[in-house]
Amino acid sequence: MQDTALKSAAQSITADVIIRAEKIEKFYAQPNMHRIQVIAPTDLSIAPGEIVALLGPSGSGKSTMLRMLSGLSRPSAGCVYWHEKPIGEVEINVSIVFQTFALFPWLTVLENVEAPLKARGVPSAQRHERSMRMLDTVGLDGFEAAYPKELSGGMRQRVGFARALVVEPEVLFMDEPFSSLDVLTAENLRSELLELWAKKTMPTRSVFLVTHNIEEAVLLADRIIVLGRNPGHIRTDFRVQLPQPRDRKTDAFTQLVDYIYKVLTRPEVPPEGVPEQQAGTRAPERREMRYQMLPHARPGGMAGLLELLLDKGGRDDIYRLADDLAFEIDDLLPIVDAAQLLGFLKIEEGDAAITESGAEFANSEILRQKELFREAAQKNVLLLRQIRRALDSKSDHTVPEEFFLDLLDEQFSSEESQRQMETAITWGRYAELFDFDAGRRRFVMPDALEEEIEGGGEAE
Ligand code: ADP
Ligand code: MG
Repeated sequence: MQDTALKSAAQSITADVIIRAEKIEKFYAQPNMHRIQVIAPTDLSIAPGEIVALLGPSGSGKSTMLRMLSGLSRPSAGCVYWHEKPIGEVEINVSIVFQTFALFPWLTVLENVEAPLKARGVPSAQRHERSMRMLDTVGLDGFEAAYPKELSGGMRQRVGFARALVVEPEVLFMDEPFSSLDVLTAENLRSELLELWAKKTMPTRSVFLVTHNIEEAVLLADRIIVLGRNPGHIRTDFRVQLPQPRDRKTDAFTQLVDYIYKVLTRPEVPPEGVPEQQAGTRAPERREMRYQMLPHARPGGMAGLLELLLDKGGRDDIYRLADDLAFEIDDLLPIVDAAQLLGFLKIEEGDAAITESGAEFANSEILRQKELFREAAQKNVLLLRQIRRALDSKSDHTVPEEFFLDLLDEQFSSEESQRQMETAITWGRYAELFDFDAGRRRFVMPDALEEEIEGGGEAE
């Protein structure tokens, strides 16, 4: 116990990376002197405490990458380090689980699990004890005397896991370990693996999982790396922050699946903007924030987007919308966000779906649009509501910008506060919630309303 505490303290001081690949490449020489580049120069590290999933289309080099990282094959160039020592020069402690477990058919389940310990020279009694314990862990107690052919696919897979885990690998590599199983068996084994991992029943400190199944990656991984092909290269590498156990039906889950799907299917689009993952489980500091971050979009842009969306039956893929508008996705997203903030559209599985109020907005004349925008803004945007409330309650119906900038500054950087203010002014003017006197830097009542009030109209 003390030993492990010491060990982990030492590890946090020294390297907190177990495997580090530096500019590794793989190419194959051809008889005609050309070479086939399978992996472009790539940097990649595996840290303790994480399940890393490597996703990619078939032929993108996932297995090749796994083989290089696990020491099974040498990179053509670059170097893989195991605790900062070149991998060919030190003993490494890894196991690999393959899609089809090459179990020895002439050995019993127990003998299959013992085999790698035997190869490592572990004495017989210890071998037996450790293997029995591991078979128990993976739910195969009672099957130790069976032969592989007597077992179902799922049970054979369990033997494979037991055989990989019995050597107590520091890193467990898996190459599509669930893909030859039926859906239910795969699902069971996945959750059992997660349970072992979470309970720290296995000594393994990192798991590196190759898969082409997006949902599997989002279910299991703490970090997802997506490979592109020709030659293999990393397209995106990000953390999955959804709490375990994960629920496929949550918005955050489906949004992440959709994001990865897009990265995989659109190799020409630079992958950006990993979706927010804390839907419903926001970090406390976020909850304390008073002001939403206003996306810097113009009302006219929102109107254009909503009209197009309505034209397309009220729902469309965001990327397709960007294409149709000849927008970069980065330029479209703030508009989508803004429309979402105002309740004019919803994001569902990567689609933008217009809401009832969004449809009404898109169908209306300009004056009615302003009215709808005003209602939506007052309902949904705290800053706009506050500015208007202040104007209503002050007898001279004017408030300095400074007052709100100070409040914004508590939450945003001063440049961002400025940008937030500019956006709020644009929206508020459009909605005729207020006007802004740029000379005096003061909010004032819009003209029409001012007259009304002066003429004895109601305030508040
Ligand atoms: P993945 O696991 O992502 O499906 P692989 O790592 O198995 O991809 O293969 C990546 C690419 O490397 C494939 O296009 C494959 O044809 C090529 N490849 C693998 N081995 C060799 C080899 N010995 N000679 C030439 N090309 C190879
Ligand atoms: Mg493969």
